Amino acid sequence: MQRQVWHILTGGEICKGFRVDPEKGLSDREVSRRLAEFGPNSLVVKKGVNPVFLFLGQFKDFMVLVLMVATLISGLLGEIADAVTILAIVFLNAVLGFIQEYKAERSMESLRSLTAPEAMVLRNSRTEKVHASGLAPGDILMLEAGDRIPADIRWLNTSNIRVEESALTGESQPVAKMNQPLTDEYSSVADRKNMGYMGTVVVNGRGLGIVIATGMNTEMGMIAGMIQEVKEEETPLQKRLAQLGKWLVTISLAVCVVVVVTGVLQGESFEKMFFAGVSLAVAAIPEGLPAIVTVALAIGVQRMVKRNAVIRKLPAVETLGCATVICSDKTGTLTQNEMTVRRIFCDNQVITLTGQGYDPKGDYHGADPYKDKGPLKELLRCAALCNNAVLTKKGIQVAGLFRGKGQDSIWGIEGDPTEGALLVAAAKAGVWREALERKEQRVAEIPFESERKRMTVIYKNKEEYKAYVKGAPDVVLGLCSREMTKDGVVELTSERRKQILFYNDEMASHALRVLALGLKDVRRGEPNGDVENDLIFLGLTGMIDPPRTSAVKAIKVCQAAGIKPVMITGDHKLTAQAVAKELGIIRGFNERVVTGIELDQMTDEDLSHMVMNISVFARVAPRDKLRIVRALKKNGQIVAMTGDGVNDAPAVKEADIGVAMGQTGTDVTKEASAMVISDDNFAAIVAAVEEGRGIYDNIRKFIRYLLSCNLGEVLTMFLGTLTGLPLPLLPIQILWVNLVTDGLPAMALGVDGTEPDIMKRVPRQPEESVFARGLGQKILIRGTIIGLATLFVFVIGLWYGVGLLAARTMAFTTLVFSQLFHVFDCKSERRGIFEVGIFSNPLLVVAVAISVTMQLSVIYLPALQVIFKTTALVGWQWLVILVAAGGPSLIIGLTRLIRNRYQPAKSSPNFSFKKSVH
Ligand code: ADP
Ligand code: MG
Repeated sequence: MQRQVWHILTGGEICKGFRVDPEKGLSDREVSRRLAEFGPNSLVVKKGVNPVFLFLGQFKDFMVLVLMVATLISGLLGEIADAVTILAIVFLNAVLGFIQEYKAERSMESLRSLTAPEAMVLRNSRTEKVHASGLAPGDILMLEAGDRIPADIRWLNTSNIRVEESALTGESQPVAKMNQPLTDEYSSVADRKNMGYMGTVVVNGRGLGIVIATGMNTEMGMIAGMIQEVKEEETPLQKRLAQLGKWLVTISLAVCVVVVVTGVLQGESFEKMFFAGVSLAVAAIPEGLPAIVTVALAIGVQRMVKRNAVIRKLPAVETLGCATVICSDKTGTLTQNEMTVRRIFCDNQVITLTGQGYDPKGDYHGADPYKDKGPLKELLRCAALCNNAVLTKKGIQVAGLFRGKGQDSIWGIEGDPTEGALLVAAAKAGVWREALERKEQRVAEIPFESERKRMTVIYKNKEEYKAYVKGAPDVVLGLCSREMTKDGVVELTSERRKQILFYNDEMASHALRVLALGLKDVRRGEPNGDVENDLIFLGLTGMIDPPRTSAVKAIKVCQAAGIKPVMITGDHKLTAQAVAKELGIIRGFNERVVTGIELDQMTDEDLSHMVMNISVFARVAPRDKLRIVRALKKNGQIVAMTGDGVNDAPAVKEADIGVAMGQTGTDVTKEASAMVISDDNFAAIVAAVEEGRGIYDNIRKFIRYLLSCNLGEVLTMFLGTLTGLPLPLLPIQILWVNLVTDGLPAMALGVDGTEPDIMKRVPRQPEESVFARGLGQKILIRGTIIGLATLFVFVIGLWYGVGLLAARTMAFTTLVFSQLFHVFDCKSERRGIFEVGIFSNPLLVVAVAISVTMQLSVIYLPALQVIFKTTALVGWQWLVILVAAGGPSLIIGLTRLIRNRYQPAKSSPNFSFKKSVH
């Protein structure tokens, strides 16, 4: 088919051309055949990490290069064994660095595929969600407000579709779309009102389209330079650490120069001192830091994925740990979103319904819907028709007059749970949309929007047209002027309105979500927008939406963690209040709930004054969310805000941590978000906060470890030369220390578990330094202790006349073991190793075991002894070493054990309190 003519053909002709039945969609076989022929539907050519370059990148470090060149020269001068070993160590270090970075890179890559855009497509007569890259020409797409159109399409069916095409045409005003063929073959892209283009956004309505071009064949693909790559942002911490790194490099180099100069002045050979200096520089510069930070972030992000939180913007990982307020939607996030109609108020009668979930079995008490011919029947017809949900059984769509008896069947719905509940309620009375639609057909729809809080459809029955409306009671009742009763349609008096609203409040205060239903006979040809007036009121439905049990727990966790949970909902004030109380967000009915109307009357100033005292916002529109975020931020809060619809996107973007819903969220909101919650569950946000705190903790852990160890190494050499002692460690030994201590153990710390009290502390200040809360002090003290202990052992060795070879071996081993002991102290800033448990991080134990084995081989294997200038150690020497290296850890562990035993931390009052009650 010629690409230019799609817009002048009819939908039927196009479907025929693409050999697809628009009712059924393509088959899987056909899809894979077409994908093979046309390629995947993506613009970006996948650029994987090249392991070779990544590996070579490990050698780009300046001091490593200096070391390698110097080694090569010395190798040529005859010190072959030394040179080979040094190169081997440098190589091993590069391998470690490579593993770290490769792991980081790979996990980032898998993240990208997790956040890939998806599309709803009709295939094999069923709707399914697929990755946008898996779309093929001829696929039938279902699109609605908030979707980014994933390929070029021709609209087959549109209902109020408006599309924002600025990405393609530069025109920011949304364009209304239709499905009729155009007459002008030569119209421009912007004028093809029946076409949809890849990358543009549906801002309104819903519709059906057929994919006519994918990937690079789309209009977007044709435009060179439009191809956008995902930009990886550095997190604030990464930036700050890069700064710190530069600073450390300068200091280390300065110290090394001093060491070299002092050594030479004291008579050591320049060559030896130069090597010592360069090796010290290589060891002292924590070149692994950035990679370990990335690994820690990436591993943390992966842990979040396991807990259903997918990070889209890496900086959010850090911000999460600082969150002070989490604003969440109610429906679906805090509640289960498995709605069931429990009560119907119709013709002044209160009817109760029984039944479980979406199973269309249950009874009506208070009326017999099978006999009713009046308002109840009409209400149920409205419930079934003004509805886009589909009932499913074990994932298979159930259409028509099904009244099965299957007990163990799993019922579900596709679509909006609110509508699913209404569908099921009608089905319980034998009213099925599919059966009704044999007589009447839908001719128009004004889709539900949070802003409008209602939905309308128009059905045609022979020559009669009827509009069915459902929505928030206050809204729909406002549009009604009459009411349907047993005795026919009567005027809706203001007295009667009051009664209905009273009953609405009564249901709402029982945590029921209430919808009002209405209808109207429409004259033919009446435009869509004008039908929503002068309606006939049919009744109210009240549905339960139980709180998620996991959300109740998560709310408690939040409160203990100094995070304020805030509920924001479009639902009725009383419903919101009742649900908030069940969830524990508010304590009683006297706590203030602010409604959208009240918000409208407040200035931004007023709002920011009071916002900290409010936990529930009801009947708000999405635009109010933006004001709430701003007001909270003005109060210095770090705000997480959830959203799903298109209109939520601005608030999600404005929040410090924008959270989009994975299931109900639209593409636009997801793109604006920093994090996507794949199960739409509030608990996942709290889990992500916990992981965020854990990641930051882990970063602090290995910064503490690396820096105190490096300080220890530098001090050993520095003080050793300053005091006129022989060189405490040989260059090759320094490099070895760096290899066995900085590599695996530091990496294992980076993936350490979270501490049990992590959600009992108050949030961290976002701008605090990595050395805050005593960490800098800990590093200085421990670094000094490691340095002094090493020198001390060296001096003891010399003192007892074991000879320089053995004394160096002792110092060498002390330095390594000090660090391997210290790594366990770094697991916690509050608790000692006896409380944390030595084996709580198996990776760390393995890493340390490997390092210990490596060190022992260097001391005891004759071949290595020659290279590393070591000698086998004997009993008393080991005793001295272990006391000097392990003593500090033992003392810290014991004092913390005693302190925490007798003086439990103040930050966990609940914990100790509960224990003493029993
Ligand atoms: P929330 O999801 O937080 O309850 P929404 O903005 O989705 O808020 O909905 C606002 C109100 O619109 C609801 O309280 C309900 O009265 C009404 N509503 C919700 N879903 C539908 C729907 N599918 N059709 C008609 N009205 C609806
Ligand atoms: Mg909703």
